[in-house]
Amino acid sequence: MTTSDTSAPLVGPAPLVELDSVSKYYGNIRALEGVSLTVHAGEVSCVLGDNGAGKSTLIKIIAGLHRHDAGTFRIEGEETSLSNPRDALDRGIATVYQDLAVVPLMPVWRNFFLGSEPTKGAGPFKRLDVDRMRRTTREELLRMGIDLRDVDQPIGTLSGGERQCVAIARAVYFGAKVLVLDEPTAALGVKQSGVVLKYVAAARDAGLGVVLITHNPHHAYLVGDRFVLLKRGTMAGSHLREEIELDELTRQMAGGSELEELSHEMERAERK
Ligand code: ATP
Repeated sequence: MTTSDTSAPLVGPAPLVELDSVSKYYGNIRALEGVSLTVHAGEVSCVLGDNGAGKSTLIKIIAGLHRHDAGTFRIEGEETSLSNPRDALDRGIATVYQDLAVVPLMPVWRNFFLGSEPTKGAGPFKRLDVDRMRRTTREELLRMGIDLRDVDQPIGTLSGGERQCVAIARAVYFGAKVLVLDEPTAALGVKQSGVVLKYVAAARDAGLGVVLITHNPHHAYLVGDRFVLLKRGTMAGSHLREEIELDELTRQMAGGSELEELSHEMERAERK
């Protein structure tokens, strides 16, 4: 295992989010043990791992769904333990899940403002400010470089990639400092994955700290500044971009020495 001190900032001051040797147990199941992750403004920190590696558990801790059992969780230098997702949002941490919480039949603009709709008028005349929502959605999507045909179309008619992009633009608009993306490209083809990664880079360039969860080292390497590899709940590696090539990241992700051992065993089995 090659692990280096990846907590030093590449840019800016205190990390937006810092997990230091964090552990989480479900009863006697070890979901995470001694995992560290640093997220700086204007950077993408990638968390790579196979099924069961602990990626979802890590997201749940950062998103305020679960409390960690050991280690330290800091937000902008301040030790914390989030008690619920609202808490995380209030601290500027927005999480975009793979199965996006959208209402498919409602227009894009309605979904963009879901739960935070602006109103106009007062008392009995209070009503949703539809024009503002439409206009703002169009403007904000354009600002991120997303040119949707029509913000009035039901969000369910958009492609998976487009929906991820709308969710990213939404988080940026509502002032997120940290954007956590749960395998945003997992269900997408090559072209759509590329589009989503472009908006991940746009969020980074807008100054957000991005946590990109993925099992695809190629996608991670296209945008990542830091890489944390998880294996069965533990850290299998932690690298800065300049310390690791894509080939090596892919090898480590694919199981590295475990895979080599397996291929030797297969050779032996064939010879018998
Ligand atoms: P996947 O990509 O398959 O979703 P993951 O990397 O997100 O995997 P986690 O879901 O975080 O991994 O799971 C890590 C470990 O913790 C697994 O062994 C899993 O079975 C276990 N685990 C997760 N949630 C719970 C729970 N609520 N109760 C008990 N064990 C759990």
